[in-house]
Amino acid sequence: MTAHDGMFIDGGWRPARGAGRTEVVNPATEQVIATVPAGTAEDVDDAVRAARAALPGWAATPPARRGELLTALSDALAARHEEIATTITAELGSPIGFARRVQAGLPVAVARSYADLAASHRFEERIGTSTVLHEPAGVVGAITPWNYPLHQVVAKVAPALAAGCTVVLKPAENTPLTARIFAECTAAAGLPAGVFNLVTGLGPEAGQALAEHPGVDLVSFTGSTAVGRRIGAVAGGAVKRVALELGGKSANVILPGADLDRAVRANVADVVRNAGQSCNALTRTLVHTDHYDEAVALAAEAAAEFAPGDPTDPDCRLGPVVSARQRDRVRELIRKGAAEGARVVTGGAEPPEGLDKGYYVRPTVLADVTPGMTVAREEIFGPVLSFLRYGDTDEALRLANDSDYGLSGAVWAADQDEAVAFARRMECGRVDINGGDFNIMAPFGGYKQSGVGRELGVHGLQEYLQTKSLQL
Ligand code: NAD
Repeated sequence: MTAHDGMFIDGGWRPARGAGRTEVVNPATEQVIATVPAGTAEDVDDAVRAARAALPGWAATPPARRGELLTALSDALAARHEEIATTITAELGSPIGFARRVQAGLPVAVARSYADLAASHRFEERIGTSTVLHEPAGVVGAITPWNYPLHQVVAKVAPALAAGCTVVLKPAENTPLTARIFAECTAAAGLPAGVFNLVTGLGPEAGQALAEHPGVDLVSFTGSTAVGRRIGAVAGGAVKRVALELGGKSANVILPGADLDRAVRANVADVVRNAGQSCNALTRTLVHTDHYDEAVALAAEAAAEFAPGDPTDPDCRLGPVVSARQRDRVRELIRKGAAEGARVVTGGAEPPEGLDKGYYVRPTVLADVTPGMTVAREEIFGPVLSFLRYGDTDEALRLANDSDYGLSGAVWAADQDEAVAFARRMECGRVDINGGDFNIMAPFGGYKQSGVGRELGVHGLQEYLQTKSLQL
């Protein structure tokens, strides 16, 4: 057990103002592996002051130079790749192979993409007789969740820095160790003091203090819709800019004629990935009634290949969920699904066999799910897949769009044009066509209650800019 001290403020670690601490628990062993300081409003105030003081200098730094420092940040993350991966496996329970490839690997590429964008983006343009300047939005308060502990941080901090903003980060209390490594990487990269600051701590204390702080110009939040709503209200009341990246209940639509085996296997792998803790997980599968039974049987067969186990094992593909609370919530939702009439085809709420320690959940396939059921409407954030049936394509579209959320979706069809035509009518921010790959340059964000704003690529950069027009 390691007791970490300090908040990263104004270029270095300085003692926390209060004595409170939070524990970091390894979800596979249930052991406390570290403690970190629980930040207070005073720590947040120190960090915001440092970020404000650093803002004029950083905003005036030529974008190409900001790009060089972001390249150095990407290199620093790459240099600590293995340590980041093992840390994420320890504090989140992500299988080590996935942690290396995605959890630690993806942010290196995203940071690099913003190094390139800082250098190439046109921060000035001419519109008729006006020159339009794209200026930094100011001091950013970033509040991140635990499910992708480094990606969620980099997807906010890298574009903010590229835009010329300075940042105060409050990471999730479950996964602060990765955020601490990130802070060290900003120092190793040579970022000027105060440009990036870190305050660890609890949401209702440190997080809320950051969202409410008058010195913060823009709040960027990723997490639950419930908290996002509150942050949106606080930001709206103070007339601050706000970006919200919230939950999802994304539909995977398998149209008649699609490669059923491929579509279902990809869907199961998607929902099991990161133990189901991805906001864009395709958790509602819509299948034509003629193919429904076959699809459910295929899913059960595919899910059985993902036995939960030790995430440090390189062969592990399904680790524990992040916490006892999350495990209990997922199991409760599975029970609720069964109570409301869903058929548990495989998996279920019982603990997996042979695992007496760790917050494990069985990979679960629910069939006969109808649109009004809780498991069709609520984000479960566990390895649970719900199958719904449709009679024709119009009904498939109605069901796909019948959600308070609108983050992402997928369509499978024999013909790409048919899939694209269907995707155009879906009410969500991102749709994968016949298994299309994740693209880090394409905008990511939600329609409806999945959020406000976009992350990644140039759209993510624009979130952190404000425009000024000079009439000449
Ligand atoms: P959460 O929304 O409570 O926490 C996310 C972040 O917000 C954390 O850093 C937390 O400390 C902070 N926070 C909490 N309360 C706050 C407040 N009042 N003011 C300011 N900041 C606050 O999410 P959670 O409890 O970690 O997870 C709960 C559910 O959220 C999950 O089951 C899942 O459905 C959803 N979730 C979604 C995403 C996503 O990527 N969209 C990520 C994680 C969790």
